[in-house]
Amino acid sequence: MKTCACTKHTLDSESEKEQTMLNVTDHVILTAGPTISHKEIEYVTDAVVNGWNFHHSDYIKKFEDTFAEYVGATYAMATSSCTGALHLALLAMGVGPGDEVIVPEITWIATVSAVTYVGATPVFVDIERDSWVMDPVSVARRITPKTKVIIPVHLYGHPVDMEAIMRTAETHGIRVLEDAAPSIGAEYKGRKTGSLGHCAAFSFQGAKALVTGEGGMLVSSDKALMERARFLGDHGRDPSRALYNIEIGYKYKMSNLQAALGLAQVQRAEEIVAKKREIFSWYRQRLGDVNGIGLNAERPWARSIYWMSSLVLDKTLGFDRDTFMRKLRERNIDTRPFFYPISSFPMFKGVTVDNPVSYDLPFRAVNLPSGHERTEEEIDYICAHIRDILGVRPGTSSTSQPTGWLAYRDAVNKALRDLKSASRESLSASSLPLNRNGLRVGRLRPLTAASLDDQQEIRFLADWREASQQWFPAQFPVTLPGTRSWLEKQVLGKDDRILFMAEDKNGASFGHVGLFRFDYQNRSCELDNIVRGVGATLPGGMSLACSTLLDWAFTSLDLERVYLRVVSNNQRALHLYQGLGFHEVQRVPLMKVEEGPVTRWIEVIGQPYQNVERYFITMKLDRTR
Ligand SMILES: *Cc1c(COP(=O)(O)O)cnc(C)c1O
Repeated sequence: MKTCACTKHTLDSESEKEQTMLNVTDHVILTAGPTISHKEIEYVTDAVVNGWNFHHSDYIKKFEDTFAEYVGATYAMATSSCTGALHLALLAMGVGPGDEVIVPEITWIATVSAVTYVGATPVFVDIERDSWVMDPVSVARRITPKTKVIIPVHLYGHPVDMEAIMRTAETHGIRVLEDAAPSIGAEYKGRKTGSLGHCAAFSFQGAKALVTGEGGMLVSSDKALMERARFLGDHGRDPSRALYNIEIGYKYKMSNLQAALGLAQVQRAEEIVAKKREIFSWYRQRLGDVNGIGLNAERPWARSIYWMSSLVLDKTLGFDRDTFMRKLRERNIDTRPFFYPISSFPMFKGVTVDNPVSYDLPFRAVNLPSGHERTEEEIDYICAHIRDILGVRPGTSSTSQPTGWLAYRDAVNKALRDLKSASRESLSASSLPLNRNGLRVGRLRPLTAASLDDQQEIRFLADWREASQQWFPAQFPVTLPGTRSWLEKQVLGKDDRILFMAEDKNGASFGHVGLFRFDYQNRSCELDNIVRGVGATLPGGMSLACSTLLDWAFTSLDLERVYLRVVSNNQRALHLYQGLGFHEVQRVPLMKVEEGPVTRWIEVIGQPYQNVERYFITMKLDRTR
């Protein structure tokens, strides 16, 4: 049975600490990410419904043919990964123990792993300082009589100087296998990467420009090579006799389902490449003038696809790369370190290399957010923060202030922060008045750090929580330290949360209610932690508290909609929310799970679930103008 812990919607619990770990990536601008259109969905849906029996390889065939045509190769074979394609290519070229294969130091480990799978020896060469890809001069230096293959890697989407590599290879009778995993659509003198060497391998792993989840492609115009690769990649079957195998092979095939996704992606390849190039152009406009940082280069003969827009910190800046990454992460910007020199890994201890660029530049370099869904305003925001962190004056080429949803997020976070940091003296100004029939009957007072030292307040929170446990998705022994820690870390310590104490006109607390888990892009959040205190005195007080907070959220925070979640047997609360105008949008069965003193109600998604005792109901209220 598939279950889904109701992580996002757990109201509050002492174990929420660990649960919210799962939420930390909310709102982070990520380095990678694909583009999925209706086309992909249509093809995959068709494949999952119809792609069996006589149609089990329709999409594989179409994907291979379309892909071969796109890169300008004669043959293509879809594989389960690029690593698999590299392995098959080396096997098909007869590479084995005693042979040497030249690889660049800076690449993903897969390039090198494939070499070791066949028992050959990887020979590491340096990269060029500006293009960051394999240096043909370094290659020429490391050729020996044992060299069988060169694997140029078109790192981060920039092609290697292939004419220089091919000249060296021809001179010595060496074969060339392009690792084109990151360079679909990149061009060298007008020809696509993957059509320049004797064969090439591509990747469609989820972070690549084109995705199939996991997947790869081997391409070549060498018929014998491709036949051998196909044979080995499908368990060495005798082509003329069913289920009869004549050699031990491998299982490196791609499924029809993945191929359906891949076909839609390759049909959109030019659109995807154009977006990658556009993202880089946004970075260049905003950071190109900054002294001390280097961005991806593009040689005059190259069309890079900028799989990863990247940045190198000059030594003169004296700025530590990891500190730089951490500071960006604090501002919700994800980065990745450059690949490490592979010979520095423990598996290659004792290998001697002379690759000074590879042992210097990558340690000062990071990949920037480059996924297809990145927007110009996000790049604006990122570049403004990069300049700020490096102490460079704001750029003139951009607004350098965040715009769009990022600006909205900053504005909301500031508003909440201001309320949560109110001093004792400014609390009344920060409170929202509760009015009924034009008379003031109480107020909503934001909880602040002062509450952490207020034993009475913490006790209220704990007692109320304990008394209304049954309506929460997790039930556990409530303690004062646990409650205080929850308030400190899960409410005051989070940008997207605020909790108000509801007080009557005599200043007596009668409950609390808060706004949690903002979704800035959709201008929504959840009304949460709605608890009526034991012995509350103001009739209809909680309803008034909720509607006052909602009014404020719609007008002052400019929200479009507010959600809340309620268990189906909490009739009283359901009634209250309906009265406020909320309507049900979804209900999910809950299953009871006991773990020692903790009881959880877990959402059951997928499989039909019998004997449902209760549901989690999601309700929504739209702002009506
Ligand atoms: C991603 C990548 C690979 C491996 O691709 P998989 O499909 O994950 O096996 C190989 N080489 C390079 C340079 C890559 O970036």
